[in-house]
Amino acid sequence: MNSKTATRVVIVGAGFGGLNAARSLAKAGARVTIIDRKNYHTFQPLLYQVATAGLSPSEIAAPIRSIMRSYKNVEVLMSEVTGFDLDRRIIETTESTVSYDYLIVAAGASHSYFGHDEWEPSAPGLKTIEDALEIRRRVLLAFELAERESASGETTKPLNFVVVGAGPTGVELAGTIAEISRQALADDFRSIDPARTHILLLEGGPRVLPAYAEDLSRSAEEQLRRLGVEVRTNTMVTQIEPGLVQFAGTRLSATVVLWAAGVAASPLGRKLGVPVDRAGRVLVQPDLSLPGHANVFAIGDLSSLKDAQGKLLPGVAPVAIQQGQFVAKLIRREIDSEGNPEPRPTFHYWNKGSLATIGRAAAVAEFGRMHISGFMAWLAWLFVHILFLIGFRNRLLVLIQWAWSYVTYERGARLITGSTYLPGWTESHPEAMPPSASTRQEIPSAGPK
Ligand SMILES: Cc1cc2nc3c(=O)[nH]c(=O)nc-3n(C[C@H](O)[C@H](O)[C@H](O)COP(=O)(O)OP(=O)(O)OC[C@H]3O[C@@H](n4cnc5c(N)ncnc54)[C@H](O)[C@@H]3O)c2cc1C
Repeated sequence: MNSKTATRVVIVGAGFGGLNAARSLAKAGARVTIIDRKNYHTFQPLLYQVATAGLSPSEIAAPIRSIMRSYKNVEVLMSEVTGFDLDRRIIETTESTVSYDYLIVAAGASHSYFGHDEWEPSAPGLKTIEDALEIRRRVLLAFELAERESASGETTKPLNFVVVGAGPTGVELAGTIAEISRQALADDFRSIDPARTHILLLEGGPRVLPAYAEDLSRSAEEQLRRLGVEVRTNTMVTQIEPGLVQFAGTRLSATVVLWAAGVAASPLGRKLGVPVDRAGRVLVQPDLSLPGHANVFAIGDLSSLKDAQGKLLPGVAPVAIQQGQFVAKLIRREIDSEGNPEPRPTFHYWNKGSLATIGRAAAVAEFGRMHISGFMAWLAWLFVHILFLIGFRNRLLVLIQWAWSYVTYERGARLITGSTYLPGWTESHPEAMPPSASTRQEIPSAGPK
């Protein structure tokens, strides 16, 4: 292949959609360029494990360049895409412009605070490795600060953790925090009792895991309660401030607040200049191309497409993977047809099933009419998630980590890195200031719990 004359396919985003498109184009007569602002691919389904100190970032992420090493027609550029000129077939990045013959935009989604972006510093969401490390920092720091306060003789109330939104991410965060407070941390503190931690999961709708069948929602709620999570449905959060959550006439002081409620497509969706839905997802054609631009595709979380029953395809990895493979195949066919392409097929999503984990040996799974809960669902979840992790090394490491923590209840990545500021707590506890502050205190020896 002559790289100067070959058809150039540019893929924006090396998430599930982008990577699968690139892999499927590996042997095509095309020059493929992947542009991502990060140098690594993140396996988002396991982010909550990093946020709850079960896994380290490198176990759920892999360098894009090494994933693509053996695909000689694929180049990787680390750069932030800022805009598009679809008429001139040009992508704008922070540093330069890149031209294309075909463009696949797979820039994913982020969290939405429903018009309350000011809540974000007090209630971080979980989308990136950085988010996961920030959540881990806050969760672990809360216990440390409470221990320090209690060790200095002050009475400490049980910690309140509030998770807003009971979709899959909210459920797994609440369940796992409950589990670590009652198991992994239970014997490690001398002045506080982590097992007394109050974990509250707030959901605006009538049930947890609303995308799942009702019996599985009920089972998930029951499994959460067994883990020690208080679940409140039909409860809209009306205000979040540092250390405080307001809902249904209640003002609750909260040591850690986590946001798992809303999703918005990458801002790149709106920059394509075609119609988008309320969440900013691009309304694509049945072949996933943009209206009026047959050589430009939007896939994965960035796109909005309904199935044959008129139901919006969910924002999950299998949709992005299948769409990436579909678009790559379509482009390959058109390159091979040398100017005489057949009519394009329509994308159909093959739903192989849905799985949501809640905690240790707790999960729900829906495979068509077959609904499973508890240990068997958790085993299925474990198998699928390890199978799809990128890289043999990561699969092996995660399997070993899981086996170890299953037997010992240990969470191996309990590191507090970065600042020791905890929104709300630090303001109301002068002694929680970083050690350099003048408020440093003498701590007496620990008394009984
Ligand atoms: C916490 C969490 C848990 C999840 N759990 C599950 C689960 O259990 N099962 C499941 O099926 N799905 C799960 N999902 C959803 C799943 O991860 C997404 O549906 C999937 O990642 C979408 O793939 P994508 O390729 O569209 O986008 P992404 O995988 O998000 O990839 C987007 C890529 O684009 C890059 N990018 C974004 N903007 C720019 C820019 N301007 N310039 C350059 N690069 C850019 C990003 O760096 C990223 O690499 C979860 C998501 C989250 C956040």
